[in-house]
Amino acid sequence: MTRNSHLFYQTRARRPMLAEAKGVYMWDVDGTRYLDGSSGAMVSNIGHSDPRVIEAMRRQMDKSTFGYRLHFESEPGEKLAEKVASLSPEGMEKVFFVSGGSEAVESAIKLARQYAVTVGQPSRWKVISRSPSYHGSTLGALALTGYAPLTDPFLPMMQAMPKIPAPRAYLDGLDLNDPATGLHYAAMLEAKILEEGADSVLAFIHEPVGGASTGALVPPAGYMKAVRDICDRHGVILIHDEVMSGGGRTGKFMGAEHWDVAPDIIAISKGFGAGYTPLGAMIAHERFVEPVLDAGGFMHGHTYAGNPLACAAGLAVLDVVETDGLMQNAARIGALLKSRLQDLMQRFPFIGDVRGEGLLLAFELVSDRQTMTPLPKALSAYLELVELAYAQGLIIYSRRTRDGIEGDHFLVCPPMIATEDHVEEIIDKLTIALD
Ligand code: PMP
Repeated sequence: MTRNSHLFYQTRARRPMLAEAKGVYMWDVDGTRYLDGSSGAMVSNIGHSDPRVIEAMRRQMDKSTFGYRLHFESEPGEKLAEKVASLSPEGMEKVFFVSGGSEAVESAIKLARQYAVTVGQPSRWKVISRSPSYHGSTLGALALTGYAPLTDPFLPMMQAMPKIPAPRAYLDGLDLNDPATGLHYAAMLEAKILEEGADSVLAFIHEPVGGASTGALVPPAGYMKAVRDICDRHGVILIHDEVMSGGGRTGKFMGAEHWDVAPDIIAISKGFGAGYTPLGAMIAHERFVEPVLDAGGFMHGHTYAGNPLACAAGLAVLDVVETDGLMQNAARIGALLKSRLQDLMQRFPFIGDVRGEGLLLAFELVSDRQTMTPLPKALSAYLELVELAYAQGLIIYSRRTRDGIEGDHFLVCPPMIATEDHVEEIIDKLTIALD
């Protein structure tokens, strides 16, 4: 599709013009209907155009459209912070609003750093992360991102941070359910901390359930707890990037709840504003926040962050999630969708793996399932399958898995309001595309 436009996007690929969106469906200006099988970029958790959220935003706009948070506090902000704290692990009671995922991650590492300086540990500045991973596109968040095609051009402009391998048991031929597997990968964190010098390591950041970079990677048994213990042992702050996995999509509000592990700081966004508004939050234990505020303040902020309209929308979204039991639905429909995707493995030998939790699901294409050999680069289905699904009226989300060089995975993550019928529609359309 070609069209002259003053707008430009990440690539030259052009998409249909959006006309309207309701529930799990979207229509272009030609009247073609699409099932939003990836909730945008895993954002539209409660579906499109929920009238309750629109009404809450309208009510707030009737009162005020904007209030800058250094000039006025807002009721929606207070209420939303209280709600978020109640949904977060015990003791994580301090909420700092932001407008997106990269900002949430940057806020987390800047709070951690200011805390370290404040409590007399200025030598701690390195933030260890995993590869592959995705933590955002701004230079600070990008420094944590383990994905060479995105980071390489900018390396001279940022301080790239130490990386350890993401725990991809399915590629290494290890048993996901064996606690020894979790310990094996967690030991890499401890080794990296010692190699860098524990006194220089500020934090470790990872995605409890992986997102775009790993394709819904679920941690092996024992991993989450072992990571927590290692961080405690070395005085390293543990940050969970729940930008994609938080908000209820995995069946629990925070992805890490599945393993009953609490971090020190959490970043959320995406499904938190659920596509109604740019919204995110950095949630921290007060022991990190109070010393920083006492020492003169948190030196970070974006103009639009935490405005009353965004907070009113966020409150309404959480209300819908709770009232309609959407986390329970994500767990139930997610289990069904996962098993139907696994069924496809019988028909398509080139599906190497199906993984994920709740409605954060992905499948990976390979040329040999036994060896998990990636598709030859020339045969890469990276964008092609997305186009074939598009032609069937199904939107899925693709990323290259293996350091952006080989291997293809596709996220299948419809809104949390999806029903059994939607699952069958996704599978039917996907089957035609894969055929
Ligand atoms: N962290 C994770 C885990 C993400 O998935 C994303 C977005 N894909 C980000 C951070 C960055 O979020 P944003 O695009 O809203 O800046």
